[in-house]
Amino acid sequence: MQRFRIDCDIALSAKQQQAYDFVRSHETALLFGDTGSGKTEIYMKLLEDVINEGKSAIFLMPEISLTPQMQKRLKKKFGDMVAIWHSKITKKSKEKIIAGIERGEVRILAGARSTLFVPLPDLGAIIVDEEHDDSYKASNRPRYHARDVAIYMGRVLGAKVVLGSATPSLTSYHKFPFFRLRETFFDTQKSIIFTHEEEGISERIMHELSQTLAQNHQAIIFLPTRANYKYLTCIDCGKFVECPFCSVGMSIHRERNALRCHYCNYMQRIPSECPACGGRHLKTNRMGTAQVVMELSEKFPEKRFVKFDRDEVTTQTKLKKILKAFNDHEIDVLVGTQMLSKGHDYHDVRLAVVFGIDTILAQADFRARERAMSLLLQVAGRSGRKGEGKVIVQTANAEFFAHYIDDYEKFLKEELASREGLYPPFRKLMKFMIAHKSKAKALEILERLQVCLSDA
Ligand SMILES: [Zn+2]
Ligand SMILES: [Zn+2]
Repeated sequence: MQRFRIDCDIALSAKQQQAYDFVRSHETALLFGDTGSGKTEIYMKLLEDVINEGKSAIFLMPEISLTPQMQKRLKKKFGDMVAIWHSKITKKSKEKIIAGIERGEVRILAGARSTLFVPLPDLGAIIVDEEHDDSYKASNRPRYHARDVAIYMGRVLGAKVVLGSATPSLTSYHKFPFFRLRETFFDTQKSIIFTHEEEGISERIMHELSQTLAQNHQAIIFLPTRANYKYLTCIDCGKFVECPFCSVGMSIHRERNALRCHYCNYMQRIPSECPACGGRHLKTNRMGTAQVVMELSEKFPEKRFVKFDRDEVTTQTKLKKILKAFNDHEIDVLVGTQMLSKGHDYHDVRLAVVFGIDTILAQADFRARERAMSLLLQVAGRSGRKGEGKVIVQTANAEFFAHYIDDYEKFLKEELASREGLYPPFRKLMKFMIAHKSKAKALEILERLQVCLSDA
């Protein structure tokens, strides 16, 4: 294989150098670094060294974080030695990359989880950025968790594995030696405000938003819900209008004057009476991104609000377009779901508004607290990357969030203690899903399974 000697001129601070040495001296290491602490520089240094040792490397990112900024950064440092890989690139591009690998020219493959399955010779390192991200777990076949596969491959192939995150998963924190990187590049002045009020855009939030926009700064608004509202509920019988196929509440999409099921995409017109009892008093619940964009566009007609969720960002091209428009300041406010939190670099965001974090905290899932806390920190981390930043959180659980907001490690420690003996990472859980056209048949199978399991 052709040997390149490269020097990317990466200057590490003393603390970053320590982190780097730590990572190099462990087979698998967790880089627990706050937003803005310079994890990327450490990755770059590792990639450079691996290349200079004549080896190759894989750099994994959640698909949504494969932004033009990141690609440019990699291309600038490593030129044609780096190629980008994800499920949506064309067959032709894939063939080109594979040929490049065979010729020994492509030495770094950066991409989403499927990158792991591209045969790279002499693998020296695998970096898993944003290692806490749920998208590493494939929920369709083949079922696998890319982080676990990376760790396994590292062990088998003798490659170094680096997991990086500002909010590492509890499992990785528990299992692997870690280095905490707290130092920040930007001298940020951040303040966080918790407000406890009725759902919706309150006066307090309006006030902060007007101030930010009046100074021509940008804002991001987070909500866990798409569409206008998540539910249409009957005041008389209390039921919400359900999908006839999935038995889940259907969401209100005003622009189509329709109710849509987010499971199976079944659509119907918004009814004027309750399908269950015929009552005529229907109300909407759980405001979504489309509703916030609609209401705020009316209040600030001269500003541009854009949705940032799965309804709006349907392709990689659209993602690029919106992020570019936002960073070029053609958009003033992004209103989005979890997608907002995923490692994007927003330059001039001075305000982050967080709605609906309580619904995430209230999920019936042992990971609910971990999800809510990590999400809040990730969204908050997007405000004030350079300079001042404010975060407003609408929650009835201010005490919980305030307790950990400054120190995610404190959260991890206490959460670990509460899971001991019951949940992962101490126990393994298995999920059985039984589906059948007939409910009775499904129940019967379920009961049989229960008997088998209790005998085992
Ligand atoms: Zn009803
Ligand atoms: Zn459905």
